[in-house]
Amino acid sequence: SLQPETFKSLVKVAAEQVIASAPELTTLDQAIGDGDHGTNMKRGFEAVLGKLDAISAQPFDEALKTIGKTLVMTVGGASGPLYGSFFLAAGEALSHDKHLPDDLAEVFASGVDAVSKRGRSHAGEKTMLDVLVPVLETLKTDAGQPDIVERIRTTAAEAAARTAPMQATKGRASFLGARSVGHVDPGARSSCVLLQAVCASLE
Ligand code: ADP
Ligand code: MG
Ligand code: MG
Repeated sequence: SLQPETFKSLVKVAAEQVIASAPELTTLDQAIGDGDHGTNMKRGFEAVLGKLDAISAQPFDEALKTIGKTLVMTVGGASGPLYGSFFLAAGEALSHDKHLPDDLAEVFASGVDAVSKRGRSHAGEKTMLDVLVPVLETLKTDAGQPDIVERIRTTAAEAAARTAPMQATKGRASFLGARSVGHVDPGARSSCVLLQAVCASLE
């Protein structure tokens, strides 16, 4: 089962990676949004880092909910409530007799569903869901494979890259119409950074 120390370093590494990627996320959001995705995410994950000891002292379900609430309160923009919903719903799913890592696909699915409901969005609209949904598919189909972590990593990277040729139909980038084509979606990229950091700390 997932150990508290592993969980703590996983949250730490994920937060640090998001913070380190802030300039890149900002550049992406300058191209097809309002240029704040990097600072939004940096603010949110700095708040998570600030609560790391308290978070890692909680049971996993409560810890995920605390992360969710923290992101809702601090990230702002469209992405804050969406990432917040992801972690709140994942924590909620985990409180209902689910266990990590065995029920990871189900717990992750609850998070993805919550983003989709809150955003009234689905894969194919050039958003974070274009990374989250393919990763969920890989979790479902490849769970138990010895190289599952590597598969998730690859899926996330390829899925983020595939948002470049898409035209956005949700979020600010949709205001650009055809001019949103040719740039990676900032939220897809931040989801990729988060997932790859989790993968890296599990290897
Ligand atoms: P804002 O657009 O309000 O400035 P951010 O820049 O922090 O917020 O986040 C933008 C990202 O949020 C987009 O790149 C996209 O991935 C994601 N996003 C926006 N709207 C939606 C939605 N309805 N569903 C899913 N993701 C969305
Ligand atoms: Mg923005
Ligand atoms: Mg904004």
